[in-house]
Order: sequence, then C-alpha cells, then structure tokens
Amino acid sequence: MSNNNKKALAILGSTGSIGVSTLDIVASFPERYRVVCLTAGSNIRLLREQIVRFRPKRVAVADDVSAELLRHELGHEGPEILCGVDGLVQCATHPEVKMVVSAIVGAAGLVPTMAAVSAGKDIALANKEILVAAGELFMAEVARQGVQLIPVDSEHSAIFQSLAGQRSGDVRRLILTASGGPFRTTSMDELQRVCLKDALAHPNWEMGKKITIDSATMMNKGLEVIEARWLFDLPAEQIAVHIHPQSIVHSLVEYCDGALIAQLGIPDMKTPIAYALSWPERLHLKQKPLDLCLMEDLSFSEPDLQRFPCLSLAYQALERGGTCPAVMNAANEIAVAAFLQEKIGFLQIPQIIAKVMLSHEPKIISALEQVLEADLWGRRCASDLIEEGVNR
Ligand code: NAD
Ligand code: MG
Repeated sequence: MSNNNKKALAILGSTGSIGVSTLDIVASFPERYRVVCLTAGSNIRLLREQIVRFRPKRVAVADDVSAELLRHELGHEGPEILCGVDGLVQCATHPEVKMVVSAIVGAAGLVPTMAAVSAGKDIALANKEILVAAGELFMAEVARQGVQLIPVDSEHSAIFQSLAGQRSGDVRRLILTASGGPFRTTSMDELQRVCLKDALAHPNWEMGKKITIDSATMMNKGLEVIEARWLFDLPAEQIAVHIHPQSIVHSLVEYCDGALIAQLGIPDMKTPIAYALSWPERLHLKQKPLDLCLMEDLSFSEPDLQRFPCLSLAYQALERGGTCPAVMNAANEIAVAAFLQEKIGFLQIPQIIAKVMLSHEPKIISALEQVLEADLWGRRCASDLIEEGVNR
C-alpha cells in the first residue's frame, strides 16, 4: 500500500501507556498506518527511540530545553521539533494527519484535541478528562465539524460496540463495569492507612499512575460516567455502575425490551485501541482469545459509595453542571499528584475534591476559555488546601 493509502496518525502522549500500546499496533500493521506526529511530556529517551523507529515529520515536547536537546541529538535528519501547548496544537493539526490519538493524561489534552477537531481530524479518544472538563462544548464541535470520535476507554468502546445497529431511542440505560480496584474489599478503617504502593497495585490493568490512583479511589469510574454522558448523549439517570472484579465484561447496554448487549474480552487495551484505529473494520490481533470455559465466576454488585465517595462526587458534578465537572477534575488532578508525591493520605483525595467543589459557584460554559479558567481555579483551590494541610 502506498503512503497515501495508509491512515496518517498523530499520537498525542506517545510515551504513555496508551501511546506505547498504540505504537505497538502501528508496528504490527505497517501497511495500514503511518505516524506523522508524536508528542511526549518529559520522557525524551523513549520519544527519541520512537522517532528513530517511526520517523514522524513533526514532534512536540513539553519544554524548550528538551526540544533543544532532541534537536541536538537528532541533527538535520530529525523531524521538526516543537514545544509547549503550541507544539501540541501544531502536531494535532498537521495537514497530513487524518486521525489524532488523544492519549495525553489530564486536562492538558483539551486544547490540542479541541484544535484537532476544529481542523477536521478524526479522534481516537483515550483522554477522558477532556469530556469531563468540556463535554458539551467538545461534542458540539465534533458535530459541527462532522468528524469521527471513537472511544478508546475500554468501557466506552464496549458500549460503542454494543450500540452498533441499534436505535438510540430503545436504550434504557448504560451499565459501566468497574473492577473495584485494589481496595474493593478494604474496610474504611484500613483505607485510612493504605500507602502509595498499595494504591498503585491494580489487580487487572497496567496503566499510567494517575489513572491507576483514579481506579483505586473510583474517581476513574466517576470520570467515565461523565464521559459516557457526553459520548452517548444520555442523562446521568440512565448511566449505572456495577462492580465486576474480573474485568471481562467491559460494559453493557440495557434495551427497553430487557435485552442486555455487552462486549467481553481479556483486559488488554490493545483491543479497544485497535478498534478505534480501524473502525468500522477490525484488525487481526495476535492476542490470546478469551476462553469462557476457564471463567469460573463472573460476578456483579453495586458500588459502595461510602467507601468510594469520588463516584458520588462525579454524579454531583454532572448534576450541578456548567464548570463544576471541570473544577472537580482539576481538583482531582492536583490531589492525585499530591498523593503520588506522598504529601497527602489516600482518604484526603475525596476530601479535597469535595471541599473545592463546595466552594465553587458553577458557571454556564459557552467558550473554551471559561473551561480553562475553571480548571485553573480548581487547581489553585486544591493546591491551597494541600498547602494549608487540610484535614491532616
Ligand atoms: P500515562 O501517564 O502513561 O501517559 C501520559 C502521556 O501524556 C505521556 O506520553 C506523557 O508524556 C504525556 N503528558 C503528560 N502530561 C502532559 C502534559 N502536561 N503535556 C503534554 N504531554 C503530557 O497515561 P495513560 O495511562 O496512557 O493515560 C492516558 C489517557 O488515557 C488518560 O486520560 C487516561 O485516563 C486514559 N486511559 C488510559 C487507559 C490505560 O489503560 N492506560 C485506559 C483508559 C483510558
Ligand atoms: Mg476505562
């Protein structure tokens, strides 16, 4: 296949867990995909390896110093090397790019991904924080530009697949499954004492640190409820969460006649990433298929909102609307970063988010600047609370 027939990709966050898995798929299907742009935060060593292997035309890194270092190392043969938010935007909107894989973690992915949509690029969306912070605005731009938006998050990919060929009016509710994380059976007493290492030990999935902590607090599922609200245009009342410790049923759609349609598979992000890249086709992946006969037990239960208040906070943020989810997301990012630096305890994460949300007066969002302002406000407010040593 000539270069012109290959799907041209920009991978934002190529050095992360999703980014690396995406490049694995690209490497397995060189006849279908080519890499035009890559971006990374601070892992310059890995980015350099990726540049040598995938030969992108343009890359972006976080800061000037890293950009200069890369230019020096790669010389004239290297790609165009940019930095900062503008660099990310230049990668997301490169004229040759057909699809942008949005895999930066956090609200930092918002501006470049929005720019990609405005430039008419299709989006494979891993970054859920974008839809949490700016769901309505983002979906309006997707509709205006008529671009394809394919979810990468495993639950949303499962729902997307379970909705195929159905009438949206027949949907009764979406059921997002959640593993329950490492603390699914940990008592409230024990939760007071859990440490960073315990929280980073996810039972089923290997992911970046931020989402791993979000899974332990169950904020990840809260963010996913909001993500589903916007992706599938359904109100919060029609989005339920079930604990499913085996992570085999990736999510379900319940229809008005009582039928449930689900997507199942081994817990491996390669399947939803490959589906987003190749939709509406499917790729022949060399993975071990799921052997249902080895599944002794597939269990489901209601989440415990007392031990995992982050899930309730997300439903509250949706109900309050406007800038509230953006503020919640920002506070969560700051609280999780502080927990990762062992500045605060595990149970302080929801306490900080709740306090920040309580002191926020939500405003209606009509432009991206308002989202960025709310994000900044949430970050400052959470950082101040941590500085003051709140509830220590
Ligand atoms: P990660 O931490 O492993 O990787 C994040 C990537 O973003 C890295 O390339 C990093 O360099 C880059 N980055 C981080 N901060 C940046 C900034 N300020 N500016 C520019 N680049 C920055 O994260 P991940 O686990 O790959 O997750 C990425 C996104 O995908 C998250 O939104 C996460 O919620 C979502 N997601 C991940 C998984 C998973 O299995 N890892 C599953 C579902 C959804
Ligand atoms: Mg998920």
